Amino acid sequence: MAPQQKEVERVMLDSPTTDNLRHWSKSYSEKAHLAGDLEHAERIRDLWRSYGITTELERYDVLQNFPTSSALELRSSTGDVLFKASLEEEELPEDPTSLRSNGLPAFHGFSANGDVQAKLVYANFGTPDDFANLKRRGIEISGKIVICKYAKIFRGLKVRAAQEHGAVGVIMYNDPQEDGKYTTKNGYEHFPHGPARHPSSIQRGSVDFFSVAVGDPTTPGYPSLPSGTERRDPHHAIPTIPSLPISFAEAKPFLKALNGQGLAPDEMSQNTEGWLGELDDVDYFTGPSKEDIFLSSQGDFRIAPIYNVIGTIEGNTEKSVVLGNHHDSWCCGAIDPISGSAAMNEVARAFGILLSQGWKPYRKIILASWDNEEYGLVGSTEWVEHHASDLSENCIAYINVDESTNGGRFLGALGSPLLDSVIRSSAAIVPSPINDNKTVYDDWLEDLRRSEPDMDKPSLELLGTGSDYTAFAHHLGIPSVDMLFNRQGQGVYPYHSNYDSYYWIDKFGDVGFQKHKAMAQLWGLVAVRLACAKLIPFDVTDYPAALSRNFADLREQNPQLTTAAFEIALNKFMVNASKFQATINGDLDDDSLEKTNLKLIALERAFLLEKEKGLKGRPWYRHQIFAPGLWFGYDGVFLPSVQESLAQKDYAEANRALSEIAATISTAAGVIG
Ligand code: GLU
Ligand code: CA
Ligand code: ZN
Ligand code: ZN
Repeated sequence: MAPQQKEVERVMLDSPTTDNLRHWSKSYSEKAHLAGDLEHAERIRDLWRSYGITTELERYDVLQNFPTSSALELRSSTGDVLFKASLEEEELPEDPTSLRSNGLPAFHGFSANGDVQAKLVYANFGTPDDFANLKRRGIEISGKIVICKYAKIFRGLKVRAAQEHGAVGVIMYNDPQEDGKYTTKNGYEHFPHGPARHPSSIQRGSVDFFSVAVGDPTTPGYPSLPSGTERRDPHHAIPTIPSLPISFAEAKPFLKALNGQGLAPDEMSQNTEGWLGELDDVDYFTGPSKEDIFLSSQGDFRIAPIYNVIGTIEGNTEKSVVLGNHHDSWCCGAIDPISGSAAMNEVARAFGILLSQGWKPYRKIILASWDNEEYGLVGSTEWVEHHASDLSENCIAYINVDESTNGGRFLGALGSPLLDSVIRSSAAIVPSPINDNKTVYDDWLEDLRRSEPDMDKPSLELLGTGSDYTAFAHHLGIPSVDMLFNRQGQGVYPYHSNYDSYYWIDKFGDVGFQKHKAMAQLWGLVAVRLACAKLIPFDVTDYPAALSRNFADLREQNPQLTTAAFEIALNKFMVNASKFQATINGDLDDDSLEKTNLKLIALERAFLLEKEKGLKGRPWYRHQIFAPGLWFGYDGVFLPSVQESLAQKDYAEANRALSEIAATISTAAGVIG
């Protein structure tokens, strides 16, 4: 007899092994898998097939730039080269995959091609506020090359801000200031002898403008199919100026050239920490420099194939649950994304065990190993755009794991409030990877209580962007969740560098591989609960509760808002949600079960703006309740249309947007009313 739900859940908990996880971690991270690596996609496809899962590749042809050459020099006024950056990371004998030939050269995905020579200006974190501050104090950005620190906002938005201020190029580096606890200043040795950042480590990454649009920038809103696809100018979503990442060791000579030039940190900000960093001998002056900088970034821009790996387990209905992780990486990628890919393989193997016992889930389960996440969530976005009508109608939830762990220890989970309850109940039976006799849920709550001592239960945080849930959640309104073990600055890791390696994860990031294991268990459990419960396991009361929590903060900080209509709508939503939840907790016959499930599916979709309309200036983003902050990068913002008007001090527009959302909430309340 086919296994019953209890046994199904046991298999999801019992089958992942640290030996297997370690094996995938090590073998997948032997070399880099840049987007379009067909051999890697086929390897994943063949493995899942060997577990008995029907698996195919789905190809899209998308815009990419492949680095060909780069240079960065400090030049005297007479043209002598004073310093030439190597733009390379050191090869470390301890870490066998740190060979340069394994990673990509230092480069930014979608950097424009260009050779530029200009004076240098230091722009702190390169946020819009930092540029406005420079401008206010008379530091000219136009015609200059900007150097700024990583962190605070997504790298592509730094380039966008610099470009809007007339800069001709951008250099970015990770200042040790941002490395939290694990720095040499705090007594930790740098990699490979300890967890602190290696001075030569370089963070690659895409510089697309991802809060405006993601996916292939030549096909906004429609799929990049291999033939017959119309291509548009990509520059609404990618820069027109070149940029390069460098290490902090090589940032130093450039920053030192600014010492004493322009304004000092305490002239830029009363909070002197603001513009300072932590490099020795660097005074963090704004410049402009006396010397010139020469920056060259050249790549081959072309439309190239990418391959998603799609495994399908048929269910009794067309309704589906999708699990996703990406398989491309800038370098060897043991953490990003292989810590997630390894867990996904163990989930797939567990499904294989169940299939061999005659199991069939109630809903269809789709396993997706996305290609080309790194240039801008490209594989997942093109697939979602391609299958939009099926997914809109049938997909009940999307569960993303990009990294199982970034070195941190506590569950970090972002997502739709509709998934709060299934994540909580599942986390409550997964053993803690760090504490005997505790669960993932116990650690999660304990960690959150450090900043909010009265919290009674954890909830999912607002979804922004940064990984493959974006198209599901923001474009189609599919309840989505993103999970990893991190939390509160604990994960210091060689993100997008040549040191994102098996050596790092084995020695520092997840000694013993218990966090990989807990993630595989949690992911599999959440998947079978969502796929197998006849009644979709959402608790609708979590939605108005989340709205009310977030709204309380917004109202407190913005007394200019007229909130009555919103509060009435929210109240109606709360009342309807409680009643609805109470009735569905009883026995339902097949007919009412079907109707109830359709309402549960329709609920999140009710928050979407119409297709073609979307949020202001970014029609692809359609969710009215949350969106990636326009200028924040990864973080989500609550009621984006209201917050953007508030940021402009346009209170009339903010109130208009708020009443529009009140009407939407009222409609959503009607869906379950
Ligand atoms: N996760 C990747 C990053 O943070 C891709 C994000 C994007 O470019 O959309 O670089
Ligand atoms: Ca597209
Ligand atoms: Zn990733
Ligand atoms: Zn990445």
